[in-house]
Amino acid sequence: MKQIEKYIAIILRPIHENLTFFVFLYLLGILTMMIEVWTLNYKIQRFNFFSWIFDLYIICLLLTILPHKIRIGVRFLSAIILYLLSIINSFCVHNFYAKIGTEILNVMLETNKRESSEFIEKYINLEILQSGVGIIVLLLLFHLLFAFSFKSFRKWLIHKWEYQHFSIFNTILRYGMVFLVFISFFICTLSRIRVIQLMMADIEQVDNYTNNFSENTPFNNLLFSIKMRQLANRGLTVLADTQEKVEIDTCTYTSDHIVLIIGESYIKDHAQLYGYSKETTPCQIKRQQKSEHGCLVAFTDVISPSNLTSIVFKNSFSMHSIEDKSNWSSFPLFPVLFRQAGYNVTFITNQFVQSLSTDIFNISGGLFLNEKRLSTAQFDHRNTMTHQFDIGLLSEYDSLRQFNSAHQLTIFHLAGQHIDFYKRSPEKMKKFSISDYQERKDLDNSAKQLVADYDNATLYNDYVVDSILKKYESEDAIVIYMPDHGEECYDELQRMGRLPVGNYSPEVLRQEYRIPFWIWCSDKYINKHLEIFEQVKDAKNRPFMIDDLPHLMLYLAGIHCKTYQETRCLISDKFNMKRKRLVAGIIDYDSIVTNTKNNRNNKSH
Ligand SMILES: [Zn+2]
Repeated sequence: MKQIEKYIAIILRPIHENLTFFVFLYLLGILTMMIEVWTLNYKIQRFNFFSWIFDLYIICLLLTILPHKIRIGVRFLSAIILYLLSIINSFCVHNFYAKIGTEILNVMLETNKRESSEFIEKYINLEILQSGVGIIVLLLLFHLLFAFSFKSFRKWLIHKWEYQHFSIFNTILRYGMVFLVFISFFICTLSRIRVIQLMMADIEQVDNYTNNFSENTPFNNLLFSIKMRQLANRGLTVLADTQEKVEIDTCTYTSDHIVLIIGESYIKDHAQLYGYSKETTPCQIKRQQKSEHGCLVAFTDVISPSNLTSIVFKNSFSMHSIEDKSNWSSFPLFPVLFRQAGYNVTFITNQFVQSLSTDIFNISGGLFLNEKRLSTAQFDHRNTMTHQFDIGLLSEYDSLRQFNSAHQLTIFHLAGQHIDFYKRSPEKMKKFSISDYQERKDLDNSAKQLVADYDNATLYNDYVVDSILKKYESEDAIVIYMPDHGEECYDELQRMGRLPVGNYSPEVLRQEYRIPFWIWCSDKYINKHLEIFEQVKDAKNRPFMIDDLPHLMLYLAGIHCKTYQETRCLISDKFNMKRKRLVAGIIDYDSIVTNTKNNRNNKSH
């Protein structure tokens, strides 16, 4: 019996010697998780109950090895770090509905000074203590109180624990604790080894670990985000090296001028062009009915591979398709192929402008567009300013377009219907207001206002896009329009914005991943390339995901190269209609959305 007691004492020593630390930090871990559960409606992760015991035991074990004086310092520092992380995490959960992670880290590292002061004004105030942050701060105060003022009480408690070996309560507690430590080691060791492997992984292997990265304490998430950022930077170097080696086989210069317009956060259900009851796209409708110059063909079944701008850009600029096993960085970007072929490439963006100060670099996807080597490899001309409203881009474009080139690719990237919808259209062009949504009995006035703002932004986007098309009416030009992804604005779900990656319900897929997509050809283009125009019209109901956009672009230019696949070209006769459209590379869009359509039909019968 004495022998067993001895072993138990050895096992419990790390906890015993750091008891206050262990107990309070365990509470901290559980509270942090519960705040996520309460605010984000997450499920309780039972794993975390054990992983916190495991992690804290290991920390206490390391502390026990240290000399007493150093131990106190290190213990204090680790507690401060963990409390801070929990506070920041709860803050993000409360304000942005997101935990500490890659996105939040990017925003923090890439925000400029003006933005940070706006941020402090907006979010840092006493009200924040009424959220989960307040609970953590309260725990911290208790911890401090306990650590500094109740020394004698603590001593008495520990004394009791130490010397009353024979009280039943004490025995149960000790045996129970040893049991918990064993269970935690049994459950968590493998996953902790995986975390270490992930930290040492290279770009090629990282996907194997990220898919298994389910247990997430703020500390883990931070480590993970730092690693991801580091890998992203390495990926950019590899990507830039790849672009230097890019070669094309032949180019027939099929189309003289190809224009790609990339919109932002466009909900298909809010486009009159696709049957919305409000007049949000009058100009596009006119062009579809051919009462203006040229002809617009609206595609009916197009989706985006992601609801995050950066991931959409990565996928729709690269010859890499989302289901490709090999790494994204080892594929050419289509603007590079165009330049290789002799096209003059212009990029006009209202979001990812290269900044001289490098202070504000890119929050959501300018990474490979703004990195110096990559930008030079892709573009001949770029604009230098962002504008309050998208129409500002056009005058900047006119001043840039002084060059003379027979073959051109122009890419416009708009702010479109980006969040803060009311800021996307000038006051005098707003048409919709609360009174236009009387039929929406499900919404209160502030929600109705948001829908009105969104529709005004969509209407303004119609005007901007139409103004771009006007520029090409007398030219031999073909224009492709697509937004990066959809959005939520009180349609199927009573919310706005976008849900974090991982939510793939039919409602979310329809609102956030399904997008408008159309191709417009000028009269000159139709006359000169009647065959292509017919192909465009024939293809309008094909199922398409925009990660394969580069193959369409290359086809329109007549560029052939190793990575070009005609089966991925939307308008080609060889287009693969049976391609599985995997959102995020894992979710079969058609099986989820079509299945629920069938269910609905069944219900209505
Ligand atoms: Zn976006």
